[in-house]
Amino acid sequence: MSYEREKQVAIEAAIAAAKLCELVRLDIPPAMEKSDKSPVTVADYGSQAVICKALWEAFPDDPVVGEEDAKALRDPAEAENLTKVTEYVKKIVPEVTPEKVTGWIDRGNGEVSQRFWTLDPIDGTKGFLRQDQYAIAIALIENGEVKVGVVGCPALPLESGEVGALFAAVRGEGATMMPIAGGTPRSLQVVPANDGPNLRFVESVESSHGNQVRQNAVAKAVGITADSVRVDSQAKYGIVASGQAALYMRLPSPKSPDYREKIWDHAAGAIVVEEAGGRVTDMHGKPLNFAQSAKMTDNQGVIASNGVIHDTVLTALRESS
Ligand code: AMP
Ligand code: MG
Repeated sequence: MSYEREKQVAIEAAIAAAKLCELVRLDIPPAMEKSDKSPVTVADYGSQAVICKALWEAFPDDPVVGEEDAKALRDPAEAENLTKVTEYVKKIVPEVTPEKVTGWIDRGNGEVSQRFWTLDPIDGTKGFLRQDQYAIAIALIENGEVKVGVVGCPALPLESGEVGALFAAVRGEGATMMPIAGGTPRSLQVVPANDGPNLRFVESVESSHGNQVRQNAVAKAVGITADSVRVDSQAKYGIVASGQAALYMRLPSPKSPDYREKIWDHAAGAIVVEEAGGRVTDMHGKPLNFAQSAKMTDNQGVIASNGVIHDTVLTALRESS
């Protein structure tokens, strides 16, 4: 089966959402707070609306498991924010009303099933608010396997000096990167060797999203001497897939040892690394389980690597526990 149409629809949706996010970013948005106290902005909602609309029109039977829902926005006390979200969506989709916006956002409240999409409309909202890195992540999962992944990174600098990268992968067909503003996709390859200048590792900027002390100790144990590169969002997977780093480590934070990763934070990035020749597992070496629920209850942490150093990293982790 070909996933060409799925890939194209996801790429176009990510590009449209990236435009909206960048318009919001130029206006420096104040964050609202979700019930779990994590930040959310008009761009998170606007991006989810634009992407869910596109997926719904192309694949009306596919559920979408997205990070946001419109419950808070429907609250009359939030009318001003709903108006703002609607204004931004209007710049991308002219024929829009507040009701349509909340309806599209809530298309993203689907269930994990045999075939579904998972969506993080802004991955790394904290990075977005710092005017730093963030990503728009869309993945198609079928029978528990990620088949298509698209990661748009509107603020990621490219070697050419342009800003904004779009990573895409289809199972069995390799991974590519192109400028998000348009251009020719080039195929991606992880760093092939076990040493060299790109034997670096990436980790989150937010210390509460990992265990930086342990991540750095494991890196040393496997012979990585360079300081870590700290980047928000699934841009980290793109950096590993394009050979700019050999490893992405995300170990449970000592402050939230029972945290379970969410599928929308990893599905799209993981297939991009795998299709570039790398390997992705949890910290115990188990495959990531995208088929169970939005939370990956069977897994703990994430290790994404160029493949070559993967087993060495898992061994170092076992020995340091
Ligand atoms: P990053 O930009 O890589 O730090 O990841 C951002 C994502 O971290 C957000 O989308 C959240 O879903 C997720 N997150 C929130 N709390 C935690 C936590 N305690 N541990 C790991 N990830 C988290
Ligand atoms: Mg996220």
